[in-house]
Formats: sequence, structure tokens, C-alpha cells
Amino acid sequence: MADLFDLEHLWHPYTSMTQPLPAFKVKRAYGSTIELENGHKLVDGMSSWWCTIHGYNHPELNQAVQDQLQDMAHVMFGGLTHNPAIELGKLLLNITPPSLDKIFYADSGSVAVEVALKMAVQYWSAQGQLKKTNFVTPRSGYHGDTWNAMSVCDPVTGMHQIFGSSLPNRFFVPAPQTAFDEKWNPQDIAELEQTLVQHHTCIAALILEPIVQGAGGMRFYHPEYLRQAKLLCEKYQILLIFDEIATGFGRTGKLFAWEHAGVEPDIMCIGKALTGGYMTLSVTLTSKAIAEKISQGEAGVFMHGPTFMANPLACAVALKSTQLLLAQDWQANIRRIEQQLKQYLPALSQLEYVEDVRILGAIGVVELTVPVNMQILQQEFVRRGIWVRPFGRLVYVMPPYIITCNELDYLLQQLVKVVQQLQELQHETA
Ligand code: PMP
Repeated sequence: MADLFDLEHLWHPYTSMTQPLPAFKVKRAYGSTIELENGHKLVDGMSSWWCTIHGYNHPELNQAVQDQLQDMAHVMFGGLTHNPAIELGKLLLNITPPSLDKIFYADSGSVAVEVALKMAVQYWSAQGQLKKTNFVTPRSGYHGDTWNAMSVCDPVTGMHQIFGSSLPNRFFVPAPQTAFDEKWNPQDIAELEQTLVQHHTCIAALILEPIVQGAGGMRFYHPEYLRQAKLLCEKYQILLIFDEIATGFGRTGKLFAWEHAGVEPDIMCIGKALTGGYMTLSVTLTSKAIAEKISQGEAGVFMHGPTFMANPLACAVALKSTQLLLAQDWQANIRRIEQQLKQYLPALSQLEYVEDVRILGAIGVVELTVPVNMQILQQEFVRRGIWVRPFGRLVYVMPPYIITCNELDYLLQQLVKVVQQLQELQHETA
């Protein structure tokens, strides 16, 4: 089923070019279904990496793109503006933390993170604090694959040693240990405080993913961590950056994860589900005060301006996707998905090779004691008609919000069977 040209020439994410795992060729996708070239249908458990919250090929999102195409696909954002950017901006300011007031449109999640880091450095340099250029971040984080975004990813899973001294050295503190629904352990924040005591004069900001650490380990942690982190940032004069690229738009049961703690960041990044998975677009938001400081600095401007900034097609579909989400009882829907995840997944924790099962909102995670054999598992999932892409020791799902109860039953039944048969499967083919 793999395409020969693809195998030979197309580099896929985190894939070897000499021993690539096969990529399944997709003919079309609609609703929660991904249809392969041979007609085989898969129930989607991944939302194409947190993005397609309304499912694939959504008539209203298609229409939004088509309507926008009639006017223009793109114009530069330098010196020009347009309604899709303006209307989307208005809507985003209504649903993001009230203290955030200024919007920077960027191309992808990683770029939004780069922008956030640059904003923090420019903010301090504008005040003559030229040493405040470094960053502190919890381990097990993930913020993207561009250079500086990568520098604040977990140094082990992000394989920082490969890049040697070419990668800036950041301050890492332990990942938050108190789980989302456990009793808060104040020790959890102690090392962050120590690091700030020692190094705050050279730190511009603390960057973290609120509540859910995604690609760095799918860990859900206690909201009190964010409240304490905010206090420390204020005490030691560093900015707080929330990367809500994965957590945004309802996935954790709140529209954005900061709401679990009621803590507003100084800078916030969003992306992924912003366009409902139609195309790449991200946003970095900050407060009026920070934007003003940056603008009073030596450069007099914020030093960033991507070619496809505020692409009208992307803004138009993001506007429609966000309107669609807000127009429905999305909280009830996320609760429905969460209930179904709770019905199926916890039983797996009885297996001796399952370390933990955790569920938050429309995210279900089965953490194993050993890494999965990706090739074997991926093929088995596909054979059973579901699309689940595990990584490391994690088998997880985050389905599109439009998934029906029957589709989700099927997805979870098949996933449970595969995990139950994991040892035989991996043994047979080994
Ligand atoms: N931050 C987080 C929390 C992410 O999950 C991701 C993508 N997985 C990124 C940043 C990077 O986004 P992109 O892949 O769009 O560059």
C-alpha cells in the first residue's frame, strides 16, 4: 500500500530515509473517517495531531475557504490588512485571557513560539536589561522543532545532545510531578524557585504548556503549579509564556488550559486547532504593556514578519472554525468523549505492562512500561480500521469532537484489543 516514490523521496516526520516506516496513502477524509487508497476506512483517533476538531472535509469550513478564494488567497501583511485578519483578531481577543490585547499572526506553532521568545527578549532589552536573554522551562515539555523552540523542549526526548553547542543552553527544572487531580505537593515548585533565585537576572521568561505536557510525554499536571509559577515570575521579574498550541480550543475541557488555574500569562501561543486543521496558522498574543515596551525599544518595532503572515485563507477558515466551536455546546461534547474514554481505557491499567492510564477532556493516554514497536502496532491499528499513532511508551487518542458515540466505541474497542494483545503481537512478528 506504500507509494514507491514516497518511500524513496519524501521525508516524513521523525522518519529514517533508509528504513522508513510505510506511510499509508490516503484517498480522502471526511468527518471522523480517513479513507485509504484501497478503500479501507479508518476511524480517526488523532485529529491529525490535535487539529481537526470538526472532522475532515467540513462543509462550512470548505465554504469559508471557497468564499475567501473569490476575494483573494493572499496579500502581504506589511502595509496591507484585510477583514479575515481583523474579524479573527476580534474573536480571539474575546476568548483568550482578558489581559492579552495584541495579536501577532505567524505560520506554525513553532514559529509562534519563536515569536514569543523574541518578544520576551525584546521586552527586557527595551528596558536596558540586556542580560535577560535566557529561558527556563520544565522538563518533558515540547514547543516545536525550530531552533529556539527546540532548545526549550525536553533535552532528553528532544535529543539535545545531537545538536551539541549549536543549540542554546536553557535552564531546565523538573517536570511538574503532582498529577492533575492529586493533592498539590508544594515541593513541586521548589526547584523552579531555586533556579530563579540564582539566575533570574539572565532569564527573560518561563515557558511551559499549561496543564497538559503534550508531545514531551502526555502528562497532566496540577493547576496549582501554574498559580505558583505565576507568583514566582512576578517575584523574580520574568515573563510567563503559555504554549497553548496543543491545549487550545476545548481539548482539555476548558476553551484554553489556563482557565483550569485562572492564571493569565504575559504571552500566549495558539495554533493547531485554530484553523480546524485546514491549514497552518498560529498566533502569539501579548498584553498592551508588553507590546508598548517592545515598541519603545531600540528597534522601535517588533523584529519579525513572515511572508505569509495573516494569510487570508487561513484567517478565514480559522474564524469559521472558532465560530463553529463556540456556537455549539462543546463542553457537553467534550464531557461525552471524556466519559467514553473513562468507560474503556482504565481497565487497561490492570495489564502488567501498562504503567498508567490517564484521561482529561478529549485526551486519553495509555502509558506502557516499555516502548511500543511502532511498525507492528501501526499496522495492526490500520488492519482493525482505526487511526492511532503511538510514540515512545504512549498509545493515546484525541479524536475529532464530531466523532459519534458509535465511532468512538469502535475506536476504543479496537484500541483496547490491540493493547491487550500487545505482547503476542510484538512477539509474533519479532
Ligand atoms: N507547541 C506545542 C505544545 C505543540 O504540541 C506543537 C506541535 N506538536 C508545537 C508547539 C509546534 O507546532 P508546529 O508543529 O505547528 O510547528
